[in-house]
Amino acid sequence: LIFLGLESSCDDTAAALVRIGSDGAPDILASVVHGQAMLHADYGGVVPEIAARAHAEKLDTCVREVLGQAGLGLADVDAVAVTAGPGLIGGVIAGVMCAKGIAAGAGLPLVGVNHLAGHALTPRLTDRVAYPYLMLLVSGGHCQFLIVRGPDDFTRLGGTIDDAPGEAFDKTARLLGLPQPGGPSVEREAAHGDASRLRFPRPLLDRAGCDMSFSGLKTALLRARDQIVAEKSGLTRQDRADLCAGFQAAVCDVLAEKTRRALSLYMAEAPAAPLIAVAGGVAANGPIRAALTDVAAEAGARFLAPPLALCTDNAAMIAYAGAELYAQGHRDDMTLAARPRWPLDNASPAMLGSGK
Ligand code: ATP
Ligand code: FE
Repeated sequence: LIFLGLESSCDDTAAALVRIGSDGAPDILASVVHGQAMLHADYGGVVPEIAARAHAEKLDTCVREVLGQAGLGLADVDAVAVTAGPGLIGGVIAGVMCAKGIAAGAGLPLVGVNHLAGHALTPRLTDRVAYPYLMLLVSGGHCQFLIVRGPDDFTRLGGTIDDAPGEAFDKTARLLGLPQPGGPSVEREAAHGDASRLRFPRPLLDRAGCDMSFSGLKTALLRARDQIVAEKSGLTRQDRADLCAGFQAAVCDVLAEKTRRALSLYMAEAPAAPLIAVAGGVAANGPIRAALTDVAAEAGARFLAPPLALCTDNAAMIAYAGAELYAQGHRDDMTLAARPRWPLDNASPAMLGSGK
């Protein structure tokens, strides 16, 4: 079966074709992602109106591109999967409308996919991974631990109660005059910095559970920066590197300790093939990856980081998640609604926190 996937929930317009073999093994036939960074560059963030219009304009092109790359026509496609939330509502609506048009026009079944489920199922798209596994989703907009039990069966163990780590990296870069996206710039500077010179807080480590907080870090960084500037009337390259190193070490410690706790909750269920996977742009960070690899090894679990292009927003993960849902009998119709908020785990609203 061949699934067409569409993604337009944030600032990337994407389409992909994924074939599911008779043995259930997925194969990405084509995948394109059109980023909108240029369009939003002057505004210091994603502008929802601009994003929605760009998605509406770009989606058709994306679909034509993947069909062209795979040498297929719509007649070869068996179902359409689309991100139906959570995300910027204008973009999600653009994707859902496009998917409905294709499904109605070509007479294909339609499957609405939760964007976070797309990220959470990525390890099964790239590797042979069995349920249940532990997932740390850590990006510019999200940070949460999930036990993934099936394509629509997730247990959320905890997550950020305010900013996501990627957002904190981006703000740190902005405060230090480093280029965006902040993650790679801060990591580069931190590599020749002294992490012990400035001590940043490790919020919520003293509190039980897997919740995290990263918004206090930027305040601490701002204060440390201003103090150095006041003492020396300016920041040297070394000051900047030390600030980055101190900040990154704090994020690393928080993620490592909370991952340790999430792993112990997960391991208590005695999974047959224990595995922790990451997704999201922050998973690109070398020291964070190294810390998580160590924590996983300590707990006796395998650590898996899918290729970066599949860790960040893409439509292959949506096509794949759609395929798993389809196999379980999920079908949507023309009443499929775009949802700005859509928690993966609807067990206990009190546990959901922010994390979108
Ligand atoms: P979401 O997918 O949750 O809606 P997003 O599109 O912002 O949010 P991604 O594209 O997955 O998220 O990741 C982008 C984020 O990852 C940015 O905040 C960026 O700074 C961060 N990032 C990228 N590379 C690194 C790195 N090497 N170290 C730390 N952070 C990084
Ligand atoms: Fe995403």
